[in-house]
Amino acid sequence: MRGAMGEEATEERARDDDSADGPAVPQEGEAGPHAGAGHGQPDKSAKKTEDAPAPSRAEVSNYEIVEHWFGVAAERLDLPDDVAAVLRSSYREVQVQVPVRLGDGKVHVFSGYRVQHNGARGPYKGGIRFHPEVDLDEVRALAELMTWKTAIVSLPYGGAKGGVNVDPSKLEAREVQAVARSFMDKIEKVLGPTRDIPAPDVGTNAQVMAWLMDEYGKLHGHTPACVTGKPIALEGSYGREAATGRGVVQVFREAAPEIGLDPAEARFAVQGFGNVGSWASRLMQELGATMVGVSDASGAIASEGGIDAETLAEHVRDGGNVGDFDGSADEIDPDDLLALECDVFIPAALGGMIHKANADRMRCRMMVEGANSPTTPAADSILNDKGVLIVPDVLANAGGVVVSYFEWVQNLQHLRWTEDEVNERLGEIMRKAFREVADRARENGVPMRPAAYELGIERVVEAASTRGYI
Ligand code: NAD
Repeated sequence: MRGAMGEEATEERARDDDSADGPAVPQEGEAGPHAGAGHGQPDKSAKKTEDAPAPSRAEVSNYEIVEHWFGVAAERLDLPDDVAAVLRSSYREVQVQVPVRLGDGKVHVFSGYRVQHNGARGPYKGGIRFHPEVDLDEVRALAELMTWKTAIVSLPYGGAKGGVNVDPSKLEAREVQAVARSFMDKIEKVLGPTRDIPAPDVGTNAQVMAWLMDEYGKLHGHTPACVTGKPIALEGSYGREAATGRGVVQVFREAAPEIGLDPAEARFAVQGFGNVGSWASRLMQELGATMVGVSDASGAIASEGGIDAETLAEHVRDGGNVGDFDGSADEIDPDDLLALECDVFIPAALGGMIHKANADRMRCRMMVEGANSPTTPAADSILNDKGVLIVPDVLANAGGVVVSYFEWVQNLQHLRWTEDEVNERLGEIMRKAFREVADRARENGVPMRPAAYELGIERVVEAASTRGYI
């Protein structure tokens, strides 16, 4: 992971004082609606400093974004306050010390987190992020998002998330391995195939999952179903690496006719060219669409005539960055990527990157959210007013967890599906979920995001009350 937000960017945060409809969005520095509800104050303690420049960040945290949308849906669903209080707090939050001796000979202490938000519908499921800005507040937000996401795509899972506030781009591979193993040693008691199953997220990959599985296996015996997103050589699933990007493109195909767009004619821009962004770009290109702009932490490029996603992905695979890509594209200011005229914008970097101060510059007709919480409520409201169709994160980026589910199912049965089988089943689930959310949005006269949250929350409430939990 290179060039995440530095202090500079944090100081640049714009204030957000006219939030979208629904419960007020807390201002920076205020306690969120969650404060005092069993979690204490949002934890901002583990912030890091880094020197890489980056576009300005949001006025609100990921946690405040997720809480805002939960509040909007809870109000529309008329959820009793006591039920809402159970659903907005996490079931379990684990914070551990991750001490690791690095190459400089010194022991460095990182903070590790695993938050299990809600397990009414099945074992907890969610990624593990290695990123210097990881803190409890962010992990809580992402865990809650997973609860709604798994319910929206009808997987038999609850929601969880984990992370370590480490910057893997600054470590040797053996040091990253030491962090992964040490973290697993501290949290293994709350994990397992029937309890909680981690997967990759920002800053982690199939290799990290292999180390986690190996460490878990030392204590419990060989247990491939304890993590997903593993390498193919270690009972990973075909199609898992591309799954989130593929899911983004599958929902894009469903959404395109809603704005009268032929997918093959689409012009698109992508923010973030990691796992999700690079796969989404390549698969969009396979449909015939043209990538007119792209960025990563190193910079942004644009070209009216199109940027070849395959060549760029190869360049990045060989250790390059978007900023030093030697194609025919022009280098642009990363902030100007949002202002490119295009049909589809795909945020696939970090949370809160589309906010009140930059949303008005956007000139796309549709946004398909590959990243988690890329859009603040104020930005969402601005884009809705501009008539932009937004396919929200809880639906659009669910492809990864869907194929993680397939991997878990295959591991439990010790068999393997072909890549075509995986992709076909993924498409069925993504299309069905898209239809359910779009139909609900139309019936209730609301955008897709509130419709998706309502659907997810309803399903979790039904499971929790049928169990007798609430
Ligand atoms: P990744 O680490 O592979 O890629 C992240 C990309 O974002 C990198 O190209 C990085 O350079 C770029 N980036 C970082 N800061 C940036 C900035 N300021 N401007 C532009 N680009 C920037 O991570 P990923 O797995 O592709 O995840 C991306 C997003 O998608 C995250 O929000 C993640 O939570 C979400 N997501 C990932 C998955 C998955 O299966 N990987 C599933 C669901 C959601």
